[in-house]
Amino acid sequence: MPTRTRLLVSFVAIALLVLTVFGIMAYRIANESALLREAMAMQATVDEIAGQMTSALQVLPPALDTLRGLRLPYLQHARLFLVHTADGKSVPLGGLERDQFPDKGKLLAQLANTAQPASGQLLYRNLQYTWASVFIPGTDLRLTVVHPSIDVEFATLRSLGMRMLITAGIVIWIAVWGALIITALLTKHLNKQNARLVHQALHDDLTDLPNRNLLYDRIEQALHRCHREGQSLALFIMDLDRFKEVNDTLGHHFGDHVLQQVGKRISATLRETDTVARLGGDEFAVLIPDAHMQDAQSCAEKLLATLDVAIPINGMSLSVKTSIGIALYPQHGGDAESLLQHADVAMYQAKRSGSGFNIYAQDQDPHSLRRLTLIGELREAIAAGQLELHYQPKVNLKQQRTHDVEALVRWQHPTLGLILPEEFVPLAEQNGLIAGLTDWVLHTAVKQCCDWRARGICLRVAVNLSAHSLHDLNLPDYIAAILKAADLPASQITIELTESAMMSDLARAMDIFERLAAMGIRLSIDDFGTGLSSLSYLKRLPVNELKIDKSFVIDMAEDENNAVIVRSIIDLAHNIGREVVAEGVQDRDALQLVEMLGADTAQGYYISRPRSAADLETWLHDSEWGLRVQGPRGDTLHLV
Ligand code: C2E
Ligand code: MG
Ligand code: MG
Repeated sequence: MPTRTRLLVSFVAIALLVLTVFGIMAYRIANESALLREAMAMQATVDEIAGQMTSALQVLPPALDTLRGLRLPYLQHARLFLVHTADGKSVPLGGLERDQFPDKGKLLAQLANTAQPASGQLLYRNLQYTWASVFIPGTDLRLTVVHPSIDVEFATLRSLGMRMLITAGIVIWIAVWGALIITALLTKHLNKQNARLVHQALHDDLTDLPNRNLLYDRIEQALHRCHREGQSLALFIMDLDRFKEVNDTLGHHFGDHVLQQVGKRISATLRETDTVARLGGDEFAVLIPDAHMQDAQSCAEKLLATLDVAIPINGMSLSVKTSIGIALYPQHGGDAESLLQHADVAMYQAKRSGSGFNIYAQDQDPHSLRRLTLIGELREAIAAGQLELHYQPKVNLKQQRTHDVEALVRWQHPTLGLILPEEFVPLAEQNGLIAGLTDWVLHTAVKQCCDWRARGICLRVAVNLSAHSLHDLNLPDYIAAILKAADLPASQITIELTESAMMSDLARAMDIFERLAAMGIRLSIDDFGTGLSSLSYLKRLPVNELKIDKSFVIDMAEDENNAVIVRSIIDLAHNIGREVVAEGVQDRDALQLVEMLGADTAQGYYISRPRSAADLETWLHDSEWGLRVQGPRGDTLHLV
């Protein structure tokens, strides 16, 4: 039952109860006074009769006719109409007397001691009687009359009834209005309180932004709209980088202030139709309805720019960096749960790479079904011969010839098709499979190199090692054993290790590199320029070449900064006596530029994509950068 009705019903019930109690009280009072009045009236009448009797009794007996001629009220219905002496002896009235009241004796005995006229009420066998007893003037006789009470109750009720009805009407009317007014006031108060509680349940206390529950709700609503109107949406998860340090060093009070400022800035940067929520800690979420990839990207850039501005606190200014993960509907999920989860994965990726924002990609997702499937199948893939090596030429720019190739692993998955190393090598690293993979790559590359040599194709093969390979201190001995078994000179193999892998454990890298170098193996630092190595270490490392990371080379023709970086790396490498490989040469301009800047070797799609061994042989035969030797009469011979 609604509160309003309940209140109304209880008000009316209380009113009726009060009315009933008062009604009963009023009835009793009215009843008593009516009985009293009746007794008094009877006494007066009996007194009057007695007065009239005086003269009649003077002639008694036998002048009863006179008495009969008197108008004697009460005579007709009286139960007792007696003239009697003080001790209760009745005087015959010639048939006028009535003596039908069985309780007469008790009454007369009671009257024996009363020298006064008296009257009252008697209850006999549940019937109410009114009696009156008076002295007949001039005699010592009494006239006592007992008469059934007239229906006092009925009369009382009748007289009270109307009044009660009117009072009840007024009381109920007042009760109803009272209830209505009070319910209206209560409802208003409750509504206010409800609204406050609902707000509290759906908003974050600190920033007053929507919380996770409300965000879920908004996502669900937005998804409904998307289904109906074919729209898309973007969901951001944002996390402040190193916020814990702010809390730990400056205290929670400052931390809270920073979070409030960040919340305000995010809200101010976006439209009113977007939802900004705080998920807890230093994590925020943004829901942008009707947004495509481009919109999401520009929003993320705007947010990063806004949040990049230092926050002033107590005379200090604190700069907080943010990482944003983006998931889009419908590409990255069809429900709130998966969109949030994927935006979270993208956010961690952005944090790891320091890229500011990152759009979800399934292959980065450690929880994606595809990833889990691949992890499960990778071990068997190696044994089942599903891995293959492709080879990408590294062209010597001075000679315009290819003397080196880089072995790049691929997974020919029976159902998923070709899978690239950037997807499964990290999986192998994280799941203890990298040693087996490296082992397979080393054996296959060495075997291929031997095979080519046997057919007169003299190519040095570069093999990539993972950071995890550094954990194995037996690696140099192991490689030596493989080379020995294949009877391949160590100089035919190059080992590539990324700069960041090297910097992750420099001492170990130095140790392993020194032992590999001592064996005569060529060493290369891959993806150079991204791993923050210092010049002093570089000089001490026995590496032969630095491979400039392709991100600098790919657009160096357009991006002057990258061109400057490439030039600096080339100069630096040459100054410390190292060769330089420019990888990621995708077009003629890039090739000309790296040549002009003095790179020793170029590698990239413009020259050739990675190819299977057989394809590479064809390429070596056909390409202007292919492998040729001078024939006995000075003519150019194709080796393949
Ligand atoms: P990486 O060693 O730096 O290899 C170069 C990557 O750049 C290769 O990608 C190659 O296909 C790509 N690339 C070459 N030229 C161009 C170009 O002009 N433009 C662009 N956009 N890309 C170019 P891939 O084969 O996908 O390999 C990616 C990475 O996977 C490698 O980077 C390497 O770090 C790792 N990797 C590959 N094979 C192995 C392996 O056998 N063992 C280990 N541990 N890692 C491997
Ligand atoms: Mg490499
Ligand atoms: Mg590289």
